[in-house]
Amino acid sequence: MEGLKNYMETVVEELLGYGMKSAECCECEICKADVAAIALNNLPPQYVAGREIYAKLNTMRQQFYVDVLTEVTKAASVVAKSPRHDSIITQEEHLKEEVTEGYQ
Ligand SMILES: [Zn+2]
Repeated sequence: MEGLKNYMETVVEELLGYGMKSAECCECEICKADVAAIALNNLPPQYVAGREIYAKLNTMRQQFYVDVLTEVTKAASVVAKSPRHDSIITQEEHLKEEVTEGYQ
């Protein structure tokens, strides 16, 4: 729906890199999307309508920062243990990044 946004997605995106690093998770696009999906499924959605986004942004970030970081790190350690990219070897993007480790 136009102008409607799940603000939780923004907070998850912001903390994704940090959480994945601390869980030593692979940071390819496939794993990133998997971590974000798992984390978002475990967090309550926070929908805001277009014009309210900026007004709510800071309050919501403060309110959910710790929860989001916890879920993102948890999700990243799940993905780190069994990365889905292992079974999606047709993903050329990923192969370019990772092929040097372990396939040679
Ligand atoms: Zn990966």
